[in-house]
Amino acid sequence: KLSERLQLVLEQIPQGSRLADIGSDHALLPVAAIQSGRAVFAVAGEVNEGPFEAARRGVAEAGKGKVISVRRGDGLEVLEPGEVDSITIAGMGGSLIAAILDRGRQQGKLEGVTTLSLQPNVGEDNLRRWLLEHGWVLTAEHILEEDGKIYEILTAVPEATGTHTNDEVYSDLKLAGGEVVCSKDRLIQMGPWLLRSPNDVFFDKWQGEIRKLESILASLSRSELASAEDKRRVITGQIKEITEVLECLR
Ligand code: SAM
Repeated sequence: KLSERLQLVLEQIPQGSRLADIGSDHALLPVAAIQSGRAVFAVAGEVNEGPFEAARRGVAEAGKGKVISVRRGDGLEVLEPGEVDSITIAGMGGSLIAAILDRGRQQGKLEGVTTLSLQPNVGEDNLRRWLLEHGWVLTAEHILEEDGKIYEILTAVPEATGTHTNDEVYSDLKLAGGEVVCSKDRLIQMGPWLLRSPNDVFFDKWQGEIRKLESILASLSRSELASAEDKRRVITGQIKEITEVLECLR
């Protein structure tokens, strides 16, 4: 059975997709995608020997070798242009996911791709910024907690085909009274859809981030370095802004 996290990544993919799961490890996601009918064909991509072998075994044990192609290579280089219409990348840092997408884009591997379902472990803001700068628009964001860890899942489509534009998604978030709660930078940091309908996990995540910033602040206040003062000011500003956003949303 898939983890709740991978299940949610999978559910963002349209029914009947031709799927590529990059960094597939045991190929749990493509196997589940085929078994559930969400994908009719899948590529499981892996750059490392151990996980690549694990993916091969996973596909063979599930008896899905005819519809899941396990390939070894870096990122999207394992794909032929136009071969898939959906891509999942889960369980890596946001910057690494963005770098994989960027190299793939330069190689033409994103042509014909209509859905990206991405689960960055950290650095969600870097990934949102890459999507925004390269014509992908977020259509959904999810946040969940599983086994004591918090995960975000970002779903994006090419801006031209989406029901929303990036200008709409990243427009200032305002309260009923017209007061601006969130600027674009804050939307990129915290997530435009998550901010519009925050759940308990969202509040837990950002309260945790505030606690981390406060502990950095405490260690900076013990520092004698001249640069510590500047850093303290920046971090104090961040804590204040995040706290204000959370208060407005409650
Ligand atoms: N996607 C699975 C999940 O979410 O449970 C596995 C995540 S695992 C933590 C990350 C996997 O990505 C590793 O198996 C690693 O070998 C693979 N990986 C890292 N960089 C990659 C790249 N550039 N191309 C393909 N796979 C990569």
